[in-house]
Amino acid sequence: MSEPNTLQEAVIYFSSPQNCLDYLAAKRWPNGVVCPTCSSNKVKFNAGHRVWQCSSHHPKRQFSVRVGTIFEDSAIGLDKWLVAIWMLANDKNGVSSYEIARSLGVTQKTAWFMMHRIRLALQDADGGKLGGEVEVDESYIGGLSRNMHVSKRQKKIFGTGGRDKVAVLGILKRQGKVRTSVIPDVTRNTLHAQVRSNVAPGAQVFTDAWTAYTGLDTEYIHNVIDHAKAYAVENVHTNGLENYWSLLKRTIKGTYVSVEPFHLFRYLDEQAFRFNNRLDIGDCDRFNLAVSQVVGRRLTWNKLTGKTSDLQSTVN
Ligand SMILES: [Zn+2]
Repeated sequence: MSEPNTLQEAVIYFSSPQNCLDYLAAKRWPNGVVCPTCSSNKVKFNAGHRVWQCSSHHPKRQFSVRVGTIFEDSAIGLDKWLVAIWMLANDKNGVSSYEIARSLGVTQKTAWFMMHRIRLALQDADGGKLGGEVEVDESYIGGLSRNMHVSKRQKKIFGTGGRDKVAVLGILKRQGKVRTSVIPDVTRNTLHAQVRSNVAPGAQVFTDAWTAYTGLDTEYIHNVIDHAKAYAVENVHTNGLENYWSLLKRTIKGTYVSVEPFHLFRYLDEQAFRFNNRLDIGDCDRFNLAVSQVVGRRLTWNKLTGKTSDLQSTVN
């Protein structure tokens, strides 16, 4: 059987442990298996234990296909992992942890943890600065943490400045990719720093008339659309990002009813992955791309739940 093209084919294909191993090994080591510790290609496969052994004598010379990936240290089978990736990479409105739990026969807590690891794999590698026509727009994501206990919720709302909303900045290269990030505020300092680190000098930047954007014209061709007057004047608009915000909010409200502000950036990564890989690419390709990004990324339970503080730096 050739590689799967639909969710149903994926479920059947990955029900074979051998297929899981072959598929993942081929994605991970397209030029042949190498030792994750010393990069040697002198490795021997032990079929009984489904592990390789490096011919050099060093610690960790035995390794599985999972070592150094989001699957490392997980007791969940690759059959479930790969199907979960298929679902999350391809369902344009996202998939709730309850749905994954029911579909795969794992607990909701396990599903939730799996999905956050998958979101880490979906995180876009830094692609340098954007040029050409770039829309920049800020938005607020509200309705977060609505399942939280009242006392905890009040503390959180009080602690974040009295609003149950989180500010997000979107940067969209027209006909290209979107980047989104959670930002502490929408001041001039914050917005200008974000634009400078994501957009190449000399690019055309399109924003609304929010005063914090004033001054961008020293480095960019700054086009302003005043939404009090019109939504678009010829090519001056931020409609690409407006569409993106409505997609994102539909996913968060419709599918993920209890996102904590603390985890919001992961949901942003997930939505951006699907959006950025929506054109000229099928479910199978999107899945392949997601799987190719599982290597070199780790997310432990402690990191995920904030017991360590380096949440944003988990991409190696
Ligand atoms: Zn080695």
